[in-house]
Amino acid sequence: MFNPQTEIKFLSGVGPQRADLLEKEIGIHTFSDMLTYYPYRYVDRSKVYRIAEIDGNMPYVQLVGQIVSMEAIGEGRSRRIIGRFSDGTGFIDLVWFQGLRFIGKAYKVRTRYLIFGKPTVFNGKLQINHPDIETVEANADIPEIQGGSFRPHYHTTERMKKGFLASSAVAKLIGNLFRLITEPLPETLPQWIVDEYHLMPYDEAIRNIHFPSSADTLRRAQARLKFDELFYIQLGILRYAQNRKQKQGGLIFKTVGHSFNTFYHDFLPFPLTDAQKRVIREIRQDMRAGFQMNRLLQGDVGSGKTLVALLCSLIAIDNGYQVVIMAPTEILAEQHQETISGLLSGMPWLRTELLTGSVKGKKRKEILDSLISGNVNILIGTHAVIEDGVQFRNLGLAIIDEQHRFGVAQRAKLWDKRIDAAGEQATSQNGESGKILLPHVLVMTATPIPRTLAMTLYGDLDVSVIDQLPPGRKPIHTIHQFLKHMDRIHEAMRTELRKGRQIYVVYPLIEDTEKMDLENLEEGYQQLREAFPDYRVSRVHGKLKPAEKDAEMSAFASGETQILVATTVIEVGVNVPNASVMIIMNAERFGLSQLHQLRGRVGRGAEQSYCVLVTKYELSETTRKRIQIMVDSTDGFEIAEADLKLRGPGDLEGTQQSGMAFDLKIANIARDGQILTYARTAAQHLLDSDPAESSPENKTCWQRLAQMHSDINWGAIS
Ligand code: ADP
Ligand code: MG
Repeated sequence: MFNPQTEIKFLSGVGPQRADLLEKEIGIHTFSDMLTYYPYRYVDRSKVYRIAEIDGNMPYVQLVGQIVSMEAIGEGRSRRIIGRFSDGTGFIDLVWFQGLRFIGKAYKVRTRYLIFGKPTVFNGKLQINHPDIETVEANADIPEIQGGSFRPHYHTTERMKKGFLASSAVAKLIGNLFRLITEPLPETLPQWIVDEYHLMPYDEAIRNIHFPSSADTLRRAQARLKFDELFYIQLGILRYAQNRKQKQGGLIFKTVGHSFNTFYHDFLPFPLTDAQKRVIREIRQDMRAGFQMNRLLQGDVGSGKTLVALLCSLIAIDNGYQVVIMAPTEILAEQHQETISGLLSGMPWLRTELLTGSVKGKKRKEILDSLISGNVNILIGTHAVIEDGVQFRNLGLAIIDEQHRFGVAQRAKLWDKRIDAAGEQATSQNGESGKILLPHVLVMTATPIPRTLAMTLYGDLDVSVIDQLPPGRKPIHTIHQFLKHMDRIHEAMRTELRKGRQIYVVYPLIEDTEKMDLENLEEGYQQLREAFPDYRVSRVHGKLKPAEKDAEMSAFASGETQILVATTVIEVGVNVPNASVMIIMNAERFGLSQLHQLRGRVGRGAEQSYCVLVTKYELSETTRKRIQIMVDSTDGFEIAEADLKLRGPGDLEGTQQSGMAFDLKIANIARDGQILTYARTAAQHLLDSDPAESSPENKTCWQRLAQMHSDINWGAIS
């Protein structure tokens, strides 16, 4: 009987040494790991290119020929081995930067090799970096490949290649493995799901993913395995959310009372938009439903999330609870504190306090004491508020703003430590025993998260969307301009300044190039001062002391200065309605979401606003596309979707820091949105139709989920 949990060393052709490589290099311990080590690419093995046909723009190609000479050149980090490779029609350089010690031994001159890789041009010469390389005969004895025309390619490391475990050797081992499997592999999904979604049976999919018999079967095999992968993730997330709702009782905020009503009737600075009203209703509904709220509030820059946060806070306060509002940076926390205490200035019975890393000594102690005594109603701060020693009398609502800067680890800390602790307190206060009542959690983000990604990253959160901007805002006009036309930009700036408007000029600042970036900013600042002698210029960057920073910022905010030269410290939160122009220098170095955030700093007044993206002249194809998206669209969701497609989820701002709690083997969230939607629907259907998790037809499914559960920390995802 084939046992998928058999250790890999027992596979014929593996042995102790290769088993060691497979385990250490690519994490394959068992037969099952090997079966799910999918190829990253397939090549039509009938197609071999001639070097004469090759140019640097081609995708991966396959070549057959000989290495005519090999030499090691360069020193230190640029040390590399170059093999001149020829097939009689031309030459191409094979280049290795790693594993140099054995490359020379592993590959011989005057031997026929099959090369696979992506050709590029360097110093006018064709080359392939770290090619897949194997003898021409290597695949001749894999029966699985003989029939079909597709050759699978597996990722291997240089150490593996050194141990004679190149891609073709891996293919051969997988062939050996299939020969041990005499019965069809058992289905991993309930049959009714396979039928309903017209999926290829699991056994057939696994065979075809390695050795496809045609392009069409390959496509269906991929779809099936992607579905599998996404289905189990969704099932895990949905079940986690459901359990939490069922088990986790919630604080019940029954009343809308004095503070809310006073504010709403007497101090609301403007009528709420319909979207704001709707999400406040949704949140209010959650907070009195008897389970813990976990809600994600999405709203584009400037959609008015702060006001929503405040109104929800007042509901918590009216029910006798405290509120904490967390922001990712000190500047943003300070701004929230200013805005909120300003809005509440007519209601002196409410007390808000700011707690950041810079609040120290006596002041800090006083705040901490007042939190315990319950004198502080709203605590606003950075992650200083989740540090040890911060204790609430009765925390009822936690609001996390601009959540993409808040990594999984920080959120986990919030859940594990503070809120649990506070939750226990709430328990004793409520006089209920046995049930832990966690505070409600509202996560607010202005970084629009594409739907597919949100389903995966925050799939257990309920989502509210503010899909409407406050009235009277004109869409921002976005222009792309090259650096060499700075004079034109100055001209346009002058026109706006004459109308009495203010202007932001933003420079990138990245850790690796910090010194140069600051010099650029400084130079830009000097140039602007010379170009606009009649106007005043502020500048703000992270190297200034907080007091200096504040002084420069408030000079701009009050209109004393007309131009603000800054790094991305102004990215979130800053609000100067008279500023109508945003100039972003080296725009090519920013992520799309970041550009969108920055652009959101203007267009807050009634005037026509502009955003100028300044780039160097030579841009890569992708960068050009990204800039074009910004020019064409002001819709944050559209931009985020496009960004996801262009860059893939790994690079997407926000996911990088929050991190995926799992690796996807085959599915791609950027491209497989449709399959993800089906998988989620199927998972929900399963949960609804078999709530006791006991139906025999779903047995394998629940078992598999339990097995996976031990590998994934679901708590970290939410
Ligand atoms: P964000 O959602 O980006 O956090 P803010 O809460 O900072 O947005 O609001 C952006 C601006 O819009 C602020 O100046 C705020 O006072 C204003 N604003 C919020 N709600 C409304 C509304 N209903 N009508 C008019 N202006 C509003
Ligand atoms: Mg905000």
